[in-house]
Amino acid sequence: MRKILVVDDNDINREILCQILNDEYEIFEAADGQEALDIMNKQHENISAVLLDLVMPVMNGYKVLEHMHADAFLSKIPVIVATGDDAEDAEMQALTLGAHDFIVKPYKPAIIKQRLRNTINFRETAAFVNAVERDELTGLYSKEFFYRKAESIIRDHEDQDYDIVCGDIERFKLVNELFGVKMGNQLLQNVAQALKTQMGEHGICGRIGSDLFACLIKRRSEYSSDTFSFITDSIDKLPITITINVSYGIYQIDDKTLPVSIMCDRALMACNSVKGIYDINYAFYDNKFMENLRAEQVIIDNMKSALTDRQFLVYYQPKYDLSIEKPAGAEALVRWIHPELGFMPPNDFIPLFERNGFITDLDIYVWDTACRDMSDWIKAGHQPIPISVNVSRADIYNPNLTVILLDLIKKYNLKPEYLHLEITETAYTESSAQLINIVNQLKALGFIIEMDDFGSGYSSLNMLAEISIDILKLDRGFIQNEMTNEKSKGILNFVVGLAKWLKLPIVAEGVETKEQLQTLKTLGCEYVQGYYYAKPMPKAEFEKHVWGE
Ligand code: C2E
Ligand code: CA
Ligand code: CA
Repeated sequence: MRKILVVDDNDINREILCQILNDEYEIFEAADGQEALDIMNKQHENISAVLLDLVMPVMNGYKVLEHMHADAFLSKIPVIVATGDDAEDAEMQALTLGAHDFIVKPYKPAIIKQRLRNTINFRETAAFVNAVERDELTGLYSKEFFYRKAESIIRDHEDQDYDIVCGDIERFKLVNELFGVKMGNQLLQNVAQALKTQMGEHGICGRIGSDLFACLIKRRSEYSSDTFSFITDSIDKLPITITINVSYGIYQIDDKTLPVSIMCDRALMACNSVKGIYDINYAFYDNKFMENLRAEQVIIDNMKSALTDRQFLVYYQPKYDLSIEKPAGAEALVRWIHPELGFMPPNDFIPLFERNGFITDLDIYVWDTACRDMSDWIKAGHQPIPISVNVSRADIYNPNLTVILLDLIKKYNLKPEYLHLEITETAYTESSAQLINIVNQLKALGFIIEMDDFGSGYSSLNMLAEISIDILKLDRGFIQNEMTNEKSKGILNFVVGLAKWLKLPIVAEGVETKEQLQTLKTLGCEYVQGYYYAKPMPKAEFEKHVWGE
């Protein structure tokens, strides 16, 4: 049964209304305006309508309407005002204050009932339509509605060419994480508002994912990175101290018969291709994206059999201890040698496996292989060196992670401190709470944790203090770019100093030249992994390299 609120200071009037309505509604009663507001504040989600007398002590009906109008929740409840029979002015005033309808005393039961039904019905339908049509947070069209609306616009304007433009806020989750959900919401609202203002009559916009926007606009002859500066401006207004990049993808509609959802997919594909590239913020969809998709499909079709057929090999790249200039560890890196496709570097398939989840299977295979090789070396009488394996972001979410790793070291009879786990820096910032928890568990079990790719993304200093890691691995891009001029050397100096202050040993990755090595030595960096000393190599070669067999 729907609930309504009857507000009248006259007990008899209230009683009459209750008699008329109690077979259809559950009724709350209030004898003055203040009491009515108190009930509404507690029950606003449950109340379908209010029947409001205008003349009352303590707080009259007009005041109640004013309060309701100013309140985001209460203004959604429809109000029917009860007036005397010759009260035209009063009715007018109540209607301007937001009342939806009025009934005249003395009450006519059938009319009251029908007016109440109509009002409630109208309000509920409108709320329903609104809810699916508009995204509540931003006021932009919701995904489904955007698709429908865009479809009808394209259909109705056969002679007009259109573009679909999609925008994706990079590292949006990080904003929520570091600055709170409220700030994240504000960011989305600012972007939405900027889009609405800019678009005006020229197109329509929708929010088609948590941080994804789509627009249908009349074909533009030109785009440049400045085309989207109005969005950057709207973000810069917020007190967010990290740089927020938005990437854009444009599909210039050449096939009007495609569903708009597919058009958006195409724009998003283009959008993804510029993610993380700092000087380009937009791209057009073209046929090469389809070819990439097909190439990916070939990989997907082959991946499972590749694992069972043992086409994946584990290579090892030594990490050198600079104080003795000898290998003190190694990183296990996967390679795929396909009978027809040939040798494939991990960057061709790892990002895809991270997206489709296959990485968890492959990683377990790599960990197992690394542990087996380590146990072979120990059996052969070598002084073992620790092997670092890569732990993907997806692995962190695997509830069996600790069990899998424990089973492995048991199976091969290894000490956990010989298995180092490299977790990439972005994982730390994207899923901090869960990660801290898992890392602490793994550490307690005796595994050594290395933060991989440090310096490649946004490193929260807070995070470094909060999470217990054992080793920092400086990102190779970082070393290679930072060494090119004096200012950059200063940054490198700072990061190494920071690690020392945190008492964390550093592995510098991607060291290729004597000059880079010298700089790192001067700074007091302990370990180096890079082509300067050795490239990743197959097991047998690695054994020769380290133990001279
Ligand atoms: P990563 O974890 O940062 O691994 C280091 C990468 O730097 C390796 O690339 C290595 O070959 C390369 N490298 C090392 N020294 C130098 C150097 O002096 N110069 C240059 N230019 N490069 C150097 P690789 O083997 O191609 O692997 C690329 C990425 O693929 C890895 O980056 C890692 O993120 C991922 N990956 C590789 N194997 C695995 C794996 O088994 N599991 C997972 N989850 N990811 C893996
Ligand atoms: Ca690594
Ligand atoms: Ca790395």
